[in-house]
Amino acid sequence: MKTVLIGVGQAGGKVTSSLVEFDHDMGFNSVRGALAVNSATADLQSLPIDTVLVGQDRVKGHGVGGDNELGAEVMQSDAGEVMAALDGRITAEAEAIVVVAGLGGGTGSGGAPVLAKELKQVYDVPVYAIGILPGRGEGAMYQVNAGRSLKTLAREADATILIDNDAWHSSGESLEEGFESINKSIARRVGLLFASGENVEGVGESVVDSSEVINTLRSGGIAALGYASAEADDDPDTNVNVVTSITRNALFTGTSLPNASTADAALLVVAGKPDRISRKGVERARKWLEEETGSMQVRGGDFPLESERLASLVLLGGVERSARLKEFMEQAKAAREEAQRQEAKRDDEEKLFQNDDLDGLI
Ligand code: GDP
Repeated sequence: MKTVLIGVGQAGGKVTSSLVEFDHDMGFNSVRGALAVNSATADLQSLPIDTVLVGQDRVKGHGVGGDNELGAEVMQSDAGEVMAALDGRITAEAEAIVVVAGLGGGTGSGGAPVLAKELKQVYDVPVYAIGILPGRGEGAMYQVNAGRSLKTLAREADATILIDNDAWHSSGESLEEGFESINKSIARRVGLLFASGENVEGVGESVVDSSEVINTLRSGGIAALGYASAEADDDPDTNVNVVTSITRNALFTGTSLPNASTADAALLVVAGKPDRISRKGVERARKWLEEETGSMQVRGGDFPLESERLASLVLLGGVERSARLKEFMEQAKAAREEAQRQEAKRDDEEKLFQNDDLDGLI
């Protein structure tokens, strides 16, 4: 699938850059353009891709400091500039536009839904979002921001692939230390998904096509991506079990949204050397995915790739009912209520002091 990527905010810019780098290193050429948008000059400076600064008149290049309402406002007022910068980058060959953002901050959280809406009004190709959820340990502000942003983003984008920051995080590292490796994991998985259907050499009937990605995401709402890989044998017959076991791992332990397994639609992509991919294994794994996801729409295909390993990518469309998402929305709601309580308490205290007549006390 030929894509144009737009990273909004700090996480958005960094993850977009990682995706560009992965696509380039692998020689896929599925990313046809990339742009980073931010209200903070410092976060744009280190990025190896083209950039646009928004909100300069309001925040003078200093960022919106986690205020996602301000993030939405600055994106709205400078949307014309962003759209102008995209003009010429989104050519007729683009099959999808992808807006990438961390949902817990300010610029990406507020700006990504606004930008998705603008893009949909202008372009005919699907506008997808990659939304990064704050990890469980991140503070209340991140959860509140992400809850609010996710609802809007899911409505505005044609589909939102959610990535929980806890999902592909290796143990022993703090989240911050781990960002670089998380971003690489995101780039490898999402990059493979975008490139599948792009790698046209050795096209066969079983090779996955971009339209299958688009059809899997057609129901809209929230999507998740699973991934797992293992050493492969030279003999495809021996690989029946390899394909079925990596598909199980991709769904149970390797998804971007832990515990997301009930879905409206799914796509299984098995990547590896074509003569090692077991047809029987792919068919078994696809059937198994139908049972596990409860979806009758499970597509399957291969992605020919020069690798000693076999990898299984599982794209799940329509995962709104998943346990992790419910848990996250409840956590975000509780954090918002707590923030409102604190605010009301502060207001009361202020009133108390304002009304306090100190005259005559002594
Ligand atoms: P913004 O610049 O105002 O949009 O804010 P950020 O992009 O920094 O958003 C903050 C959220 O993104 C938090 O939940 C962080 O955990 C997450 N985040 C920040 N940087 C990265 C990164 O490089 N990778 C990932 N995966 N998440 C990040």
